[in-house]
Amino acid sequence: MNSPRLILFDVDGTLLSSGRRGLESFSEALRRTFGTEGDLASYRFEGKLDPIIVFELMQKAGIPEDVISERRPAALSLYLDLLEEALYAEPPALKPGVADLVARVSAFPSVVPALLTGNVKRGARIKLTTTGLWDYFRFGVFGDEAPRRVDLGPIALARALERTGRTFSSAQTVVVGDAPADVECGRAIGARVVAVATGRTSAEELRAAGADIVLSSFADVESACEAILA
Ligand SMILES: [Mg+2]
Repeated sequence: MNSPRLILFDVDGTLLSSGRRGLESFSEALRRTFGTEGDLASYRFEGKLDPIIVFELMQKAGIPEDVISERRPAALSLYLDLLEEALYAEPPALKPGVADLVARVSAFPSVVPALLTGNVKRGARIKLTTTGLWDYFRFGVFGDEAPRRVDLGPIALARALERTGRTFSSAQTVVVGDAPADVECGRAIGARVVAVATGRTSAEELRAAGADIVLSSFADVESACEAILA
């Protein structure tokens, strides 16, 4: 594997699941900040950006937009404090094969592993530090850097150049994620998309969304490596 590759990994549903602890922290932060968690129980988080999740939930719960904008930074900051406490006590579960996969792809000098996620930076750092993966990623593009996930792709390509001094073409870029929004984001920059059905979206749906390769999981690390580095 000598040809350069920029690999942009999603976090939740792809690398790990912070499950109940993540959701509880989010719920408590919303309740303490806005007096309601809104329709959190039926909300579909996949592929969404954290600040947008707060906005959509609170808007639907009838909180005025100016109040949401004003209190959102406090809500997110409280969420991160609660998340940090919860995940340091009980780290998130890594998806099968992930620890090995990330270590293996990172070992190629020509490969740049990075993050493209809806988490704000501190959230991603908490989730990946508590699972021992944070230091593998050369840089990240996070949920508070654009209004839509699809806008994060071009930022990632620019940041890759800035951080590595190398330009990565679309053909050298791979987006790895578990949701249709990841597929859309990858296609928008012409990247290859490797989707994994370890989140809430089925393999069929990921295929229908246009992923180039769909894996049921990364448990078969050898195949997953091949699919990503192909
Ligand atoms: Mg995800």
